[in-house]
Amino acid sequence: MFDDLAIYIHFLYCKSRCPYCDFFRALQPKVFDEEALVARYLDEIRRFAELCGKRKVKSVFFGGGTPSLLSARAVERVLAEIAGHFALKSGAEISLEANPNTFEKEKFLDFRRAGVNRLSLGVQALEPAGLKFLGRIHSLDEALNAMELGATAFDKFSIDLIYARPGQTWGAWQKEIDLALTFGLKHISLYELSIEEGTVFYKKNIEPMDEKDAARLYEQTVFYLRSKGLERYEVSNFALDEANRSVHNLTYWQGGDYIGIGEGAHGRLKTHGKIYATVDGEIKEEISALERAEELLFMGLRVREGIDAERFFEVSGVPLFDFLNMKALLRLAELNLVYYDNCHIRATDKGFLVLDEIIRELLE
Ligand code: SF4
Repeated sequence: MFDDLAIYIHFLYCKSRCPYCDFFRALQPKVFDEEALVARYLDEIRRFAELCGKRKVKSVFFGGGTPSLLSARAVERVLAEIAGHFALKSGAEISLEANPNTFEKEKFLDFRRAGVNRLSLGVQALEPAGLKFLGRIHSLDEALNAMELGATAFDKFSIDLIYARPGQTWGAWQKEIDLALTFGLKHISLYELSIEEGTVFYKKNIEPMDEKDAARLYEQTVFYLRSKGLERYEVSNFALDEANRSVHNLTYWQGGDYIGIGEGAHGRLKTHGKIYATVDGEIKEEISALERAEELLFMGLRVREGIDAERFFEVSGVPLFDFLNMKALLRLAELNLVYYDNCHIRATDKGFLVLDEIIRELLE
């Protein structure tokens, strides 16, 4: 019995480089050959279809980069190809990441018509100084206009914001959250600003917020959003209810099968009892059960419900409680950092603040 498949479509380009971004790959060329790119997408979709057979597909995610730079026609062609080769489930989640610039906003309704039913908008800040600091090329007004349209045009709508910007106070951050909530959001993603090697911020020696202050801000945010009905279901993701969670991203966190289409896009496929890494439209290598188990631990503890032991075994072939350092597990449970029973393990609210340490100890 196969899992339903998630398909990721990777779009490399951006209009400009954000100084904090370590995903950045390439500026959109002046003459952008969309036809060649779509031909590559279609070719990879066909190759994967030969590999996987007519598997059911529960989600498609156009990410990047800035996939809203694609035309709606390109998105439509990719979706038609997927529907032609796979069993695209009715009501499948079709997400697209977009930036709120006017140029992209004007395409939102065309994206909707092309089949996109979930929009994830890279707003990042909801005050002018924050947008400027983050090097975003959209204005606050553009962000608000795009949010207004996104919230009404799509079945599912989410925005990304970045917190723990240097000097940011809880009061100022709370105002941004409140402004975001005026759009009736049912999903929001909040990412802590970290200064990663290779980014412009790193080269400029931008000092990150003190770790303790950032953790406090995160904790306040979690409680505040909870009081507004938005529950944290993953470290950085908050939703009104299960129906508004990201089906696609949960696939990664819960060890589901997914394939990546487009240059450098990765995937994980389980077939004939083996787990394979995929890249660039083909199988790259087999992944050992222990490697997959480690991946599952890293990702599964990010989710509110944590890791289900049966599911862990089903995906990796490794029994969860044989895999974990049981002494560490007992100690972490005593410290109220994790909760576990015979069937599953999850991080507590307190544990969510030190997830990396928990995972390190469980692997020792
Ligand atoms: S944050 Fe998004 S828009 Fe900015 S450079 Fe990175 S991928 Fe591109």
